[in-house]
Amino acid sequence: MKLKHQPDETESLMTWDDTFSFRCHPAIDCFNSCCRDVTIFLAPLDVIRLRRALGITSTEFLEKYAHRVVSQHSGLPAIILRMSQDEAMKCPFVTDQGCGVYESRPYSCRLYPLDTDNGIEFKFMVDTDRCHGLRETEEWTVERWRREQGLIDYDDLDHNLKDVMAADQVWEEKIADPRMQDMILMALYDVDRFREFVFNTSFFEKFKVDADIVEKIREDDVAMLYFASQWLRFALFGKKGFLKIDREYLENKKREVLGAKRS
Ligand code: SF4
Ligand code: SF4
Repeated sequence: MKLKHQPDETESLMTWDDTFSFRCHPAIDCFNSCCRDVTIFLAPLDVIRLRRALGITSTEFLEKYAHRVVSQHSGLPAIILRMSQDEAMKCPFVTDQGCGVYESRPYSCRLYPLDTDNGIEFKFMVDTDRCHGLRETEEWTVERWRREQGLIDYDDLDHNLKDVMAADQVWEEKIADPRMQDMILMALYDVDRFREFVFNTSFFEKFKVDADIVEKIREDDVAMLYFASQWLRFALFGKKGFLKIDREYLENKKREVLGAKRS
């Protein structure tokens, strides 16, 4: 039987069947205090959901609500939610009644007050002094928390993106080329711009993609994100997956380049 965890056990990691106590509600005296001055990394699925909830394009969302950051170690770009620029440093979506985008809230907000690096081991990211919900008595297993907060929806996509997301740990060479960083950012976070790139360039001349996949990604953002993960796996690691390169296109390109060099 697993012991119940307390937030001051900062070093102890929990797994899915460990338990903790927590309840957040509007009557609690710290209500909304955690929705300000906080660094929230957005997952690719978060951008899709938030931009849909707000009725704007992913490009508009990134311009208005996000900052781009780049890992110093790998050069991999990521997106964080932009807090207000005034002293309050509030999340743009917090209201007096709580989260204004609750159904579409980001992964990190769903997981709070827990945090995880690998999706298997969890720890508290706050203590009982800051988060009074941790003094309440409602008991959760980590797994029930994950399920009820909708975190399991992220598992499949994370699995698909794991090569790219794990690049921080596995790449020896830093991505220094801003064009490469922009390409990764577009594929992972800017689904509308990536769709433009796929449908309005010579993409389908270079790659043979089955017609049912083409139809699916035309409208379905999540399918497009899976497609983008395959494309990144190919572009970054040479793993083709269901992308088939059009040999004739490649041969023609080669002839064009060689011809241009000779003349
Ligand atoms: S998205 Fe919602 S839950 Fe997350 S910080 Fe903003 S207001 Fe709070
Ligand atoms: S600090 Fe904890 S209890 Fe207070 S509003 Fe945030 S999550 Fe809820």
